[in-house]
Amino acid sequence: MDSEVKLSVLFTAEQIAAAVKRLAAEIRRDYLDKNPVLIAVLKGSFVFLADLVRELNFPLNIEFAQLSSYGHGKESAGNIKVVKDIQGDIRGRHVLVVEDIIDTGLTADFFLKHLKQKQPASLKLCSLTDKPSRTQVEINIDYLGLTVPDKFIVGYGIDWDERFRYLPDICAIEDEA
Ligand code: 5GP
Repeated sequence: MDSEVKLSVLFTAEQIAAAVKRLAAEIRRDYLDKNPVLIAVLKGSFVFLADLVRELNFPLNIEFAQLSSYGHGKESAGNIKVVKDIQGDIRGRHVLVVEDIIDTGLTADFFLKHLKQKQPASLKLCSLTDKPSRTQVEINIDYLGLTVPDKFIVGYGIDWDERFRYLPDICAIEDEA
């Protein structure tokens, strides 16, 4: 049962909304006349993407990709694969990857290299959250929302084995009963 897991709120819905607004202002400034392609990495970024594009409110394309990095539970499965690749052609386009979490950085590093092979005109990264204490690969996050401590987070679309995506806040799992 979800109620048996102890959660603590790290960022309220209001704090998340303020971060999304700030990111949208930065992205709008840089991409307004570029008709960019936003590539959301499923599944965890779907709520973030939905809020972000409504704040952007200018012409852009959306693509989805799905990667496997974590198996079940909270530890990385290590071996990263593209489970679902983008459908559209991004050659010569301005591409912005939309991530939910940069943890070790391995997944984003892998995916940016994968996309680079498709020869976009430019390639940048936007992440709702970053965990600097866990970095293994230095990734340049061009647009960063929130910095989180070394905790396992859920909520605002982000799950733990498909649980807790529905929470409006971003919460840390404190312990499991
Ligand atoms: P990385 O490759 O940067 O270590 O991990 C990126 C992916 O790991 C994220 O997209 C997410 O799927 C998963 N991940 C890392 N930290 C967390 C966390 O605190 N909570 C959840 N739910 N997933 C996480």
